[in-house]
Amino acid sequence: MPDTQRRKTVTVNIGKVRVGSDAPVVVQSMTNTDTADVQSTIQQVAALATAGSELVRVTVNNDAAAKAVPAIVEGLAKLGIDVPIVGDFHYNGHQLLKKYPDCAQALAKYRINPGNVSIGRKDDDNFRTMVECAVENNKPVRIGVNWGSLDQALLTRLMDENSRLADPLPARSVMLEAMCRSALDSAAAAEKYGLGHNKIIISAKVSGVLDLIDVYRMLAARCDYPLHLGLTEAGMGMKGIVASTAGLAPLLLDGIGDTIRVSLTPKPGGDRTEEVLTAQQILQSLSIRSFTPQVTACPGCGRTTSTFFQELAQQIQDYLRDSMPVWRQTYPGVEELKLAVMGCVVNGPGESKHANIGISLPGTFEEPKAPVYVDGRLLTTLRGDTIVADFQKILDDYVRTRYGSGATTPEQLVEVH
Ligand code: SF4
Repeated sequence: MPDTQRRKTVTVNIGKVRVGSDAPVVVQSMTNTDTADVQSTIQQVAALATAGSELVRVTVNNDAAAKAVPAIVEGLAKLGIDVPIVGDFHYNGHQLLKKYPDCAQALAKYRINPGNVSIGRKDDDNFRTMVECAVENNKPVRIGVNWGSLDQALLTRLMDENSRLADPLPARSVMLEAMCRSALDSAAAAEKYGLGHNKIIISAKVSGVLDLIDVYRMLAARCDYPLHLGLTEAGMGMKGIVASTAGLAPLLLDGIGDTIRVSLTPKPGGDRTEEVLTAQQILQSLSIRSFTPQVTACPGCGRTTSTFFQELAQQIQDYLRDSMPVWRQTYPGVEELKLAVMGCVVNGPGESKHANIGISLPGTFEEPKAPVYVDGRLLTTLRGDTIVADFQKILDDYVRTRYGSGATTPEQLVEVH
């Protein structure tokens, strides 16, 4: 974490994963397979978990989905994947959890949307049933408010009260207040029905960046439950990534947020794990957590006419991504590694010196040589057609020597070469 302190919260245990307090900010994701399709769902959960998702949510929307949940958890265990599976319930969660006790037991957490269970109406039997299932099975819940399904009875009441004020608040403020109240009133009701204070996580998702920042600041000031952050319906591609980053970053830097999801809409047939990698990159860019070695690459300019350095940066990035599943196990701490791939000698050596390993490729009219710096010192100068292979070898040697068992100091490393 940078200078700011994390907001103080209780800790909630979700299977093997701790959320809140001093636990690392947890990355989570959600499948988009039909949960009833056991094999496809196992496959996608496995891909998300392998990419680094520490919790995976699946929708549990009907009998077939509820029946499939135990088989999914079992199938994942056979693959050696023990990521906690969270059940996402709407409308009929009370019926499914009662009717399928194996599903209720197999899930690590239940997500309840107060906007579409009975909370806020005359009786809240459905909500109460879900909470009682959580208590019986010793499971935590996320009270997940979403502005697209906000409790309309509560919103209408607050709007009416507001309209009677001498100086009414803007409708946006009333909506944000309704979201907070819906979450906090539901959490209070859950505790009244026996759920422990340390079994509750809160979220209040909206699709506007400024609304997101405001509603979470309001929630953070009013409770000590861990908060799950995410911009709902963030959108596709660049728009979704930028909007999510813009919304999450100010909150995370204020120490608000204990678990995050980036809700990207994938392209048809696109890779669902993109949302996991984006969430990791947000946390790593903010120096909150490290997941993978970072490559600093210059944007290129008129000094570099060839695309060689862009290709090298891409190749190194791909090589790191492909190597990380093994490196993560074999070389603890390798996720802190910093590389620089620069297009010429203007900023190249300077940037390289700030990285663990840096290379400056020759720019236009520069001598065809590529100085390589290791831990701030010139290690070697590469030339010829084997620059890529030679650089990759330096990288491999560095990782093995620095992060392997019997690791060497940077000084010894330079001497080795
Ligand atoms: S390092 Fe060189 S090639 Fe890269 S942007 Fe700067 S001046 Fe251009």
